[in-house]
Parts: sequence; C-alpha cells; structure tokens
Amino acid sequence: MVKICCIGAGYVGGPTMAVIAFKCPSIEVAVVDISVPRITAWNSDKLPIYEPGLDEVVKKCRGKNLFFCNELEKHVAVADIVFVSVNTPTKSSGLGAGKAADLTYWESAARMIADVSKSSKIVVEKSTVPVKTAEAIEKILTHNSKGIEFQVLSNPEFLAEGTAITDLVNPDRVLIGGREETPGGLKAIQTLKDVYAHWVPQERIICTNLWSAELSKLAANAFLAQRISSVNSISALCEATGANVYQVSSAVGKDSRIGSKFLDASVGFGGSCFQKDILNLVYICECNGLPEVANYWKQVIKINDYQKSRFVSRLVSSMFNTVSGKKIGILGFSFKKDTGDTRETPATDVCRGLLSDKAQLIIYDPQVPEAQMIKDLSTPKFDWDQPGSTIHIAEDVVKQSVKVVHDAYEATKDAHAIWLGDLVVMGTKRAFEEDLQEFIKHPKHLDYGNKAASVAETKLPLETVQLVGIAGENGISVPDMVVKELEVNAPLPLVTGMDTS
Ligand code: NAD
Repeated sequence: MVKICCIGAGYVGGPTMAVIAFKCPSIEVAVVDISVPRITAWNSDKLPIYEPGLDEVVKKCRGKNLFFCNELEKHVAVADIVFVSVNTPTKSSGLGAGKAADLTYWESAARMIADVSKSSKIVVEKSTVPVKTAEAIEKILTHNSKGIEFQVLSNPEFLAEGTAITDLVNPDRVLIGGREETPGGLKAIQTLKDVYAHWVPQERIICTNLWSAELSKLAANAFLAQRISSVNSISALCEATGANVYQVSSAVGKDSRIGSKFLDASVGFGGSCFQKDILNLVYICECNGLPEVANYWKQVIKINDYQKSRFVSRLVSSMFNTVSGKKIGILGFSFKKDTGDTRETPATDVCRGLLSDKAQLIIYDPQVPEAQMIKDLSTPKFDWDQPGSTIHIAEDVVKQSVKVVHDAYEATKDAHAIWLGDLVVMGTKRAFEEDLQEFIKHPKHLDYGNKAASVAETKLPLETVQLVGIAGENGISVPDMVVKELEVNAPLPLVTGMDTS
C-alpha cells in the first residue's frame, strides 16, 4: 500500500488529501499539522473549514484510509510520498518585507523530513512557493541525508475556495514538475502521476520541469487577478463617462478570445492567495533585475486597493458626506460565498474605512465567528507598499462600533445603509438575484428563499433604509436590470462599487 503523508491540514491540505483518499482506496493518507485545535476539529463533526461537499468526503474516508493527527514525525518517517502544504504568507519584516514569501514554515517542514526519514521519499511542493524553491529544498534534504534519496516535485494546487471539492474531483489540469532530466526524477513524476490517474484523465495531467511548474502557479493567479483589476479600472472610467460597466464587461467578455469569466466588476478581489502571490512574483522580478515587469504586476494590486477605497468614498459621499453614528448593515464578511475564510477579504478594508468615519456596523455572516471578525478588524493592516506603516483601529473602538448578528434581518433593521457582500449561505447567485427582484415587487416582505435555516423567513425592512450599497468579490454582480429597477422603484439612493448610471 502506497503511504502518503501531508504536512499542513489547512484549506489546501485538508480537502486535497480527503479527495485523494476518497478516489484512491488503496492509498493510506495521513494529514499532519502542528496545530492541535485544527487536527481536533478535523476529527470532529465540525470541520475546521467550510467547503460544500467536504463533510461527505471526509466522513466516507476518515478512519479508513484518511487520518488526521499531530504526530508529524511518525507519519513522515513511514511515508513514500510527503506533500508539504504549509502556509507561505508574505514576509512582514526583514529582506523583501511586504512582498517576498515567508518560507519559514516550509524550511522547518523540510528539515524535519530530512531528520526523521529512514527510507527514500518523494517530497511534493503543494504550497505556492517562489520559483526555484525546489532547489533550496533539495539542498536542505540532501544535506545530512544519510544516503537516502529524495526527489522533489512541484505539484501546485489550483483549487478555488468555495468550490474546492468540485475543482479537485474535476480539475482543469494537474501540473507535476520534476527533474525530467534524470531517471530518478522521471520515476518520481510517474509515481505521482499514477496517484492522480485514479480519477484524472491522462491528458489533463501535465508534466513539466520543476521551475515551469512553480512559476505556472504564480502566473495563473497573477493573470486571474489582473482580469479583475482590469475590469475594475474600467468601472472607474465608466463612472466618469456615463458608460455602464455591466454592458462594457458583457460586450468585452463575448469575444471568444477574451471570454466572460473573472470579468465581474466588484469592490475588489480578496482571499489569501491573489495579493500574496502577485507580490511574490513582483519580488522575484525585482530580484532578477526586472523592475519594469515588477511594476507592471504591482499595478494589479494598486488598482485593487484603489477600488476598495473608492467604494468607501462613494458610500460616504452618497450619505451626505458623513456616516458618523449611522448604522450600516453588512451582509457577508468572508472574501466570497461558500467559505468562512476572511483572509484579505475586501470587507475588512471597507469596514475599516467606514469605522474611521465613525459608522456603526452591524455584520451578518453565518460562516464567520464573531471573534474572527473582531480580530480581523482590530489587527493592524500592514501596508505592502510602505513596509513599516500600518492602519490600525483599536480593539475597543471596534468592539464599541461593531455588532455581529445572527440573522440577516437583524443586520438590516433600522439600518441607514446596507452593504450586500457575497453572502455565504445565500444559495446561488441566481437565487439571490431573484430575491432582490422579489423585494422590488413586494418591498415590505423579502424572503431570502434560502434553504439554510438561519436565514429563512428573512425580511429586509428596506423602507427604513436610506441607501443600498451593492458589491461583491468578483462578486455578487447584480444584473443591470435589478440595479435599474432598484434605482427606479426603491425610494433610496443607490450606490455600488461600480457604475449604475
Ligand atoms: P493554511 O494556513 O490554511 O494551512 C497551513 C497549515 O500548515 C496550518 O494548519 C498550519 O498549522 C500548518 N503548518 C505550518 N507549519 C507547519 C509545520 N512546520 N508542520 C506542520 N504543520 C504546519 O494555508 P492554506 O490556505 O491551506 O495554504 C497552504 C498553501 O497552499 C499556501 O502556500 C497557499 O498559497 C497555497 N494555496 C492556497 C490555496 C487556497 O485557496 N487557500 C489555493 C492554492 C494554493
């Protein structure tokens, strides 16, 4: 029986290993982590992360060929393949602060593998790492290797949170980079290919050299984020000229060479990966003496920051230039629907902007615990472009000005404004859009029509509201028609992150 061990039981390690175990009953998969609460949660009924379909997959395999535990060394020692899926955040101090990837966790995992291994192993980079990391990892592993052979492969993960299980079960491609020039490298590539071949068609498993695989992941994320910043930059121009960004993006996206995905104007992208990976790419370009290329990619992040602050300015200016003491209901706090992940969520920037102007916030997001929201809003925000400078709202101010509620109705009651972010359990985008249309027809009684018990029978008392802000990750893009009807029929001024004219 092939034995796999994965170091890091996070958003990537957990779901990826669960799907490998599910699709390969003949493989034993152990997922290990230094965090005791995380492993305890993976072994409980309430998993540490929310992903549609994850519960079912874990329940089918856990205790059979899928195990979660804190005994790192024991499982690494006996594994044939060791995936490393630890976090690689942006460095906040030292050389490259604000941009470079912090490889501390990766290095300590690699050193532990070298220390405890007694047999040859394939070590797989699952984390997103700077190009050429495999070279450094090889050095760590072979130094003091006691004659053991290590093959390092790069197998970046392309899943998107919120759709992780479907992405893993039906991936566009699986990328495996290795030392193609050596027999040992080729054998290792084939071994990992055989694992994926249990369910992924051969033509979707792409084998490359190590550096191409490492760089492809950074490049893919940079391209995706670039599309969002591109359309968001156009949304600003639309507002200045009277063009309508929905019409423009829809016309642009109809071109088959461009395509329609990732072209929804929004308040900006979020999540743990886009900003971090682009900044990592920027840093690699700078280190390779390519400042023009670095500046090109930096602009994608700058537009994203600009879009968020532009949205706050529009909200404030449309509320007579002051939100001081006004109640703003916020529906949705995580960075997109179907996840509870708040890393880099645009909601923190928008909320911080409103809190600086002394607004009272009432937030509802059924997937995000209150403590997490308070922590996110009171943690100093590190400025990537000016390392050392931070934006900080004191925890007592956050606690005084933010109320976290447990249903959408409460969040909107007596609110002066409502911000509709991407709601986690609001069902599909379509259902939400239909709900909005329902509200337009029957303004006093809006049922969210959602299956989730927590928001069933929700009524939005919009007649008491002065303003509705609509935004989304990339996002709830409210169709033109709904926006128009709201403008015409709702007795409220309407502001959105994009053009509504
Ligand atoms: P995460 O923070 O959710 O999980 C990382 C886990 O690694 C944590 O549970 C942490 O306790 C554990 N860990 C850290 N150091 C360890 C060590 N030395 N030994 C054992 N465990 C250790 O992070 P994530 O979102 O799963 O991301 C992991 C990597 O995958 C990152 O490089 C990220 O860029 C990449 N990635 C993330 C996504 C995503 O959507 N989140 C998608 C593709 C790739």
